Amino acid sequence: MSGVALVTGASRGIGAAVAGALAADGFAVAVNYARSVEGAKRVVDDIVSGGGTAIPIQADVSDADQVADMFATVAGEIGAVSVLVNNAGITDDGLLLRMGVDQWDRVIATNLRSVYLCTKAALKPMIRARAGRIISISSVSGVSGNPGHSNYAASKAGIIGFTQSIAKEVGSRGITVNAIAPGFIATDMTDALGDTVAEGVIQQISLGRLGRPEEVASVVRYLASDGASYITGQTLVVDGGLAL
Ligand code: NAP
Repeated sequence: MSGVALVTGASRGIGAAVAGALAADGFAVAVNYARSVEGAKRVVDDIVSGGGTAIPIQADVSDADQVADMFATVAGEIGAVSVLVNNAGITDDGLLLRMGVDQWDRVIATNLRSVYLCTKAALKPMIRARAGRIISISSVSGVSGNPGHSNYAASKAGIIGFTQSIAKEVGSRGITVNAIAPGFIATDMTDALGDTVAEGVIQQISLGRLGRPEEVASVVRYLASDGASYITGQTLVVDGGLAL
């Protein structure tokens, strides 16, 4: 495969694995990050030392101006984006009655406004090219909810509705738009839950373990490949059989 992939939040965790997987498939990869400059550099160095092409690109994806600058820089340095992976995300959990407006807004802006901003920016050249792939990382929380997750679950359910709508808007232009809903994947995000919560979660997972970032990355890789050319508007659940 060839083309340019932009992966948001690719300095660590799932995004870093996605960047590596797409580079292995021949994509030039823009590795976006907000603060983890060292992490982004490591991801880029790994790709380049393996013979691939990658650049780090700093931008807060919830900020419209920074997103516009990011797409302009990426287009200038490695070309127009043909695969966008909306991966950047945060949690800030709390029961609704204790959830502040800032806590609500920050999660929605980082997880959902970012998807609107980046997808809109990516689509213009894709529509001209009559080809492209948009892949967004939702969550099982967005499919069935979780206590303490109302802000996060709303943002991730929003991604699913957004994905279906944009798939209908741009299908006639040869662009596919899909989402992935991971369950519990071992990253910094789930580390924050602590061992006791993780043990309780593992008991509910049919495969009896947390997922690995590479196990989400391989699904992104598939959705970006020619083999997935007739799949659009879908949300693929990657959760090891959580609570089947
Ligand atoms: P993670 O290890 O916490 O990494 C989050 C990434 O997002 C980092 O690269 C971070 O960059 C970036 N980021 C955060 N805010 C950003 C912003 N405003 N602008 C640009 N980048 C930003 O998370 P993860 O577990 O890999 O999760 C990746 C995605 O999968 C998220 O959308 C998450 O909701 C989703 N997900 C994860 C799980 C799981 O179990 N881990 C399950 C379901 C869904 P900096 O370090 O530079 O801030």
